[in-house]
Amino acid sequence: MLASKVMSLVENVDYLVIGAGVAGLRAAITLADRGQVLVVTKEAVGESNTHYAQGGIAVALSGPEDVALHLEDTEYAGDGLVFRPAAQVLVSEGPLRVEELIRWGTRFDRGAGEPGTGHPGELLLAREAAHSLPRILHANGDATGAEISRSLLALARQHPQIRFADWTMLQRIVMKDGRAVGADLLFHANTRGPRVERVGARAILIASGGAGQVYSDTTNPPVATGDGIALAALAGAELADLEFYQFHPTALALPGVPRFLLSEALRGEGAYLRNDRGERFMERYHPKLELAPRDVVARAIAREGMGGADPEATRPVYLDMRHVTGIDLAARFPGISRFLAGHGLSLQRDLIPVRPAAHYLMGGIRTDLSGRTTVAGLYAAGEAACTGVHGANRLASNSLLEGLVFGARAAEAILADAPEVSRIEAVEAGDGALGGALNPDSGVAALVRDLRAAMWRNAGLLRDETLLRSGLKEQEAIGERMREITESTGPNRDLPGRALIEAQSLIAVARAILLSALAREESRGAHYRNDFPKRDDAKFARHSVFSAGAAGDVRFEQW
Ligand SMILES: Cc1cc2nc3c(=O)[nH]c(=O)nc-3n(C[C@H](O)[C@H](O)[C@H](O)COP(=O)(O)OP(=O)(O)OC[C@H]3O[C@@H](n4cnc5c(N)ncnc54)[C@H](O)[C@@H]3O)c2cc1C
Repeated sequence: MLASKVMSLVENVDYLVIGAGVAGLRAAITLADRGQVLVVTKEAVGESNTHYAQGGIAVALSGPEDVALHLEDTEYAGDGLVFRPAAQVLVSEGPLRVEELIRWGTRFDRGAGEPGTGHPGELLLAREAAHSLPRILHANGDATGAEISRSLLALARQHPQIRFADWTMLQRIVMKDGRAVGADLLFHANTRGPRVERVGARAILIASGGAGQVYSDTTNPPVATGDGIALAALAGAELADLEFYQFHPTALALPGVPRFLLSEALRGEGAYLRNDRGERFMERYHPKLELAPRDVVARAIAREGMGGADPEATRPVYLDMRHVTGIDLAARFPGISRFLAGHGLSLQRDLIPVRPAAHYLMGGIRTDLSGRTTVAGLYAAGEAACTGVHGANRLASNSLLEGLVFGARAAEAILADAPEVSRIEAVEAGDGALGGALNPDSGVAALVRDLRAAMWRNAGLLRDETLLRSGLKEQEAIGERMREITESTGPNRDLPGRALIEAQSLIAVARAILLSALAREESRGAHYRNDFPKRDDAKFARHSVFSAGAAGDVRFEQW
């Protein structure tokens, strides 16, 4: 059992930001001009989905025509469900935010003046799937997210009003009179043992990223367990579009090796996909071949044998760049090349085995165009949020841009809305906020493994009612088992550990995904139902809205 309760009101800050990816950092930088900001991150400050983003950031830098085309591409990928005002904000404010980022020291790749590398000093633009033009900025070849993260962190660290609490987790959003007024934070890697502290704030921004860990196969790092989404729902915030999980078509498929992402930019540079008979099978699925929207490519791979619900059907599918000439692949993709070399593979020489993996959550905490959730005092931005900007499927490289644009907007809204003071008092003893204690060998890890496998089988790339209902049954059984564990291991006020918060979050997010996917009886974007293979605009050109509660209620709304 973990250490027992230590909790008090430790401090009030002006603004509390949960997460230090692109959205949280961008927001913190604006907020810090007007008050103290505490940025909380679950692991080391640099660990986030943002850090691992490879291919780049989409932005329309060459004028109004480019902006209009970016909007068109975003809407096309989103399959009839993009909330146009949100996409308009993204594409039109994007250039401003990216230019700001460059001024702040982000070093995107530029031409060297050598043949095939662009004019000296000119920003290099790559092309990715479903973009009608090359408009993807990248950094250090395939390490764009790390560079953006580096530059934002450098700026944030210089700011006297920004403090970081690393190895610290949001555990609960504290509500008072219907308003979010603070948070219980678990300092889980404290040298003196874990402890929980309550922090009051004038406003709280959830920028805690996605929930890829809800699936057994994911490109996301271990921090992506959807905690912010689950805890916001628990505080009463509505979620939206949870059925839309993007599966990236090409993660490395080597046994026992993490699902390392093989960026879309590889296909942008000409990579083919081949099945185990050597056929370039995308010819049968979409006129844009390997550059078709991600959901089309991912389902094609599942149908060719890799990544479907049947774990036995594992005929390999390969990415093939052996024919690509005129480009130094090791120089263009240094990170990917290094990782592959570590496993004896080379882009120039080998067929690279790939399979789809859960990658990006289009849905999340429902917000307006400025990050306001349905709970006063609570804001969300980045992958944790859902403005409707991606509709049913995100256009490649739009999410780093989303984090910048909507992170900045959320900060501005917070500054405009936040009350002058919001001071909460020390927590009353016996408040019972902390839930049960976690016995280290309580079986939670096994439950999480089962949940992730069940979600892949039942709510993965190819869904139907039978699969989703059986997923729901498994989720409920796992939830029940979890309750037994938490109730059996200790009195109410003992500290839960990181594993417990994460497991509870994954179980809650899984439920929201399953119920939303069951309710959407059509196929659209990343959500594909074998039993309803067509898009049904008459009934479902609307966003799903989920409210937590015993039954878990899903309704559809037009925005
Ligand atoms: C391998 C990979 C490659 C990608 N490539 C691209 C790309 O090329 N282009 C693109 O546009 N997008 C890409 N994406 C998607 C993109 O990186 C993410 O959508 C985006 O970075 C999300 O940013 P964010 O700020 O919302 O969240 P994140 O960057 O995920 O940050 C979340 C933060 O929240 C913290 N956190 C989580 N839970 C808690 C908690 N309970 N308490 C406290 N802190 C918490 C984490 O520690 C982290 O600091 C990629 C994603 C992956 C995984």
